[in-house]
Amino acid sequence: MLTYEEYLRRVPKVELHCHFEGTVRASTFADLARRHNVELPTEEVGKLYEYDTIYEFLKIFAMVSSTLIVREDFARAAYESLADGVELGNLRYREMFFNPTLHTRRGIPMATCIDGLIDGISDAEADFGVRCRLIADVYRQDDPAVARQMVEEVLEHRRPELIGLGMDGAEAPDPPEKFVEAYRLAGRNGLRLTSHACEDAPAQNIVTCLDQLGCERIDHGYHVLESPDVTARCRDEGIYFTCCPTSTAVVYGWPDLSAHPIKDMVGAGLRVMLNSDDPTMFHTDIGQEYMRLCTALGYGTDQVRKFVLAGVEAAWLDDGERAAMRSSFTAQLDALEAELDGDRPGTAPGPGTGPGPGTAPEPGAVSPPSGRGAA
Ligand SMILES: [Zn+2]
Repeated sequence: MLTYEEYLRRVPKVELHCHFEGTVRASTFADLARRHNVELPTEEVGKLYEYDTIYEFLKIFAMVSSTLIVREDFARAAYESLADGVELGNLRYREMFFNPTLHTRRGIPMATCIDGLIDGISDAEADFGVRCRLIADVYRQDDPAVARQMVEEVLEHRRPELIGLGMDGAEAPDPPEKFVEAYRLAGRNGLRLTSHACEDAPAQNIVTCLDQLGCERIDHGYHVLESPDVTARCRDEGIYFTCCPTSTAVVYGWPDLSAHPIKDMVGAGLRVMLNSDDPTMFHTDIGQEYMRLCTALGYGTDQVRKFVLAGVEAAWLDDGERAAMRSSFTAQLDALEAELDGDRPGTAPGPGTGPGPGTAPEPGAVSPPSGRGAA
């Protein structure tokens, strides 16, 4: 028999919002720093990923990047990142962000970065059967010309594994319209398009991403709920939101996951799937993201299945790959549900399957504050 938490950890998963540089193990960060003589703020590995604001977090993110120098560094970190996803959350497929300009501005050739990542991805696929594709991210604090040049270099070093363009960094000071040119260039050359939006900025940024940048998905998107019009549009157009419970709980101050905006996004009928964002830096993993959010919100197996299959539908797979993944995931979900014991946190007594999307908030469906813990 499976406990509900084990079931949540073991359901097969797609991850579409995960930053390579934010998946580096603290021990690997320390090891690479030693090897390349990068000075660390502390000798204690357990304290390397401690910070209070997104701005401090971005500083550490850049420091981790600065320890990735030769092709083998990128390969090792990418391999370990996927191994962790498989072990801790039954990750089967990931589209993983990386920030090229964090590396190229330090003099690391684009080819070193991309080829190293692909080495690690290929080895992980051979060892664990997990697949991974890459999304190059615009860094919002860069100039538009730097972003455009990054896209040009990515296109020059195009590999089949590199399939998309995204955008991250602090959103409020640098809105998406700044990077229209980079997005149009990428789109014209066949890269798929997504962007972080509405983390701490108004819903209008989603409209800009969809209409001016040509984005197909929205990463995060929580403030969409402030605009009934934009919410209705995203629902009607079936836009997928790649949401990240723990990282946003930490950075944006929603420490009680039972009150996280994801709850109301699901309630509004938006298409949401779950991700770990920067798992090692936020002391989480893709298995824990499902466990923490679904138990905090009292979601039953029906909603878990919706999150899992939304990942399959939102992924940039071709039709044959998607159909194969859908049927394999469905079979695994069926088998895991059959193994579940009767103890399903947050579900009503009896054989019910818990709240589904589109239902009003259910009194009693929310368990006590989650054991988030970003320490
Ligand atoms: Zn992110």
